[in-house]
Amino acid sequence: MSVKTITMSEAQIKALEKKLAHTKKRKTPPYAHYQYQTSDCVITAYQSGKVVFQGEDALALSSLWENEETSNIAQRYPQAGSDEVGTGDYFGPIVVCAALVTQADEKLLEELQVTDSKALSDAHIQSIAPRLMERLPHSLLILPPQDYNRVHESDNMVAIKCKLHNHAYTHLKRKAQGLPEAIIIDQFVSPKSYYRYLHAQPQVIRGIHFETKAESKYPSVAAASVIARYAFLTSFDRMCEQYAFTFPKGAGKTVDEAIVRFVKQFGKERLGEVAKVHFANTKKALKE
Ligand code: MG
Repeated sequence: MSVKTITMSEAQIKALEKKLAHTKKRKTPPYAHYQYQTSDCVITAYQSGKVVFQGEDALALSSLWENEETSNIAQRYPQAGSDEVGTGDYFGPIVVCAALVTQADEKLLEELQVTDSKALSDAHIQSIAPRLMERLPHSLLILPPQDYNRVHESDNMVAIKCKLHNHAYTHLKRKAQGLPEAIIIDQFVSPKSYYRYLHAQPQVIRGIHFETKAESKYPSVAAASVIARYAFLTSFDRMCEQYAFTFPKGAGKTVDEAIVRFVKQFGKERLGEVAKVHFANTKKALKE
């Protein structure tokens, strides 16, 4: 027997019940919306948004539903999506953006060729992001290196990302006076771990759809990724200006060389102002 759990929004849970209407309804367990039984699977939808498929057919049925949901969500407006930038860069901040896109924005997004920010040149991002920021309700969070290093003393990178995404959505919810049913995160962690990292947060946005490579499938995630990348580039350029220093991006060999130069010029104690110091680059470059 196999078991598969997926997280669904309230609307998805209702839609699933409609599809199950022809099967056998069972006694509703505690904290559940409903429980149905097909010939080879028991399906329980909990109030937490978790839907558990149990039985021989669990994997096939849940993946059918997941795929169906995916294709439905792709065309469903309004939708909110979020993405983060800077997590692979030794220098510079971490930026998370959540953006809201409606059907009416679709044409503009196509016109501006909004897609995964990794597939776009910096120049293109710099030319289109201001228009997106003007048009789309969004929440943009920038965690500068000093703050990142402080938070990282107690939280790992994944926990930090979870909290930033959640914070971006709670902020967007306030700003836009509500969130749509379709909320998508470019997946960087399992839904289970995501919600576990948020257990102590005062407000947690639930019913999120997690999918890898979402920035190339969902307009809202693509727009969020472009805005986040733009904010990252802007604060990166400002940092270069402020220190009159050419910081390289990424976490490769040129970064190691830059660490040595930076420390020579400014002192090791100032590295935390510009870099995520826990990266292996620090030790490697300074031969600690
Ligand atoms: Mg991403």
